[in-house]
Amino acid sequence: NDFNSLSLSRPVLKGLGDLGYTRPSPIQSATIPIALLGKDIIAGAVTGSGKTAAFMIPIIERLLYKPAKIASTRVIVLTPTRELAIQVSDVAKKLGKYVSGLTFGLAVGGLNLRQQEQSLKARPDIVVATPGRFIDHIRNSASFNVDSVEVLVIDEADRMLEEGFQEELNEILSLLPSKRQTLLFSATMNSKIKQLVSLTLKRPVRVMI
Ligand code: AMP
Repeated sequence: NDFNSLSLSRPVLKGLGDLGYTRPSPIQSATIPIALLGKDIIAGAVTGSGKTAAFMIPIIERLLYKPAKIASTRVIVLTPTRELAIQVSDVAKKLGKYVSGLTFGLAVGGLNLRQQEQSLKARPDIVVATPGRFIDHIRNSASFNVDSVEVLVIDEADRMLEEGFQEELNEILSLLPSKRQTLLFSATMNSKIKQLVSLTLKRPVRVMI
């Protein structure tokens, strides 16, 4: 069982080669084919399971097969912490290294706001963000918006709620187009997560590893 059986594109397979990933982890085998179909997913996955590539691979495949006509942010990945956002962004860049024209942005607290504003103005394809800083950008920037977002990832949803990001999350959700794919990852499934899922995901496929 290797990545070739998932019918991925050559550039993504090359990126995987650079990362040294030769076989999909269980969460990757389970989620990639479903995500490639455009379905919403709720996945029970802890750190270390390979969940980052599980959502980034199908996302990059989508961007590759449906190129945008004009620069627009098409994917938002929300994470509970700046450290995780930076990690996710690094993996995404490596996976997408051989996809020409793919652009990335980061919107996290603790890093220079103006610099981030400048980079978001270019409307990068994929933006990895923490909820608080992301809200700041949407509210304060005339040139950045989320109107063309096609995929939302909520990574470590349980930690996101523990960090107290419920309100920010609700505000972001209310601004995103309702026609989109949503992928939610959480190590634990409590009633708050279930509520978030029922409000946010459409006919989600459940993947529990
Ligand atoms: P994650 O759960 O996404 O934080 O990934 C945990 C660790 O596993 C990271 O160090 C990844 O680089 C690594 N990893 C993810 N997927 C694979 C794979 N298919 N093969 C080998 N290593 C992987």
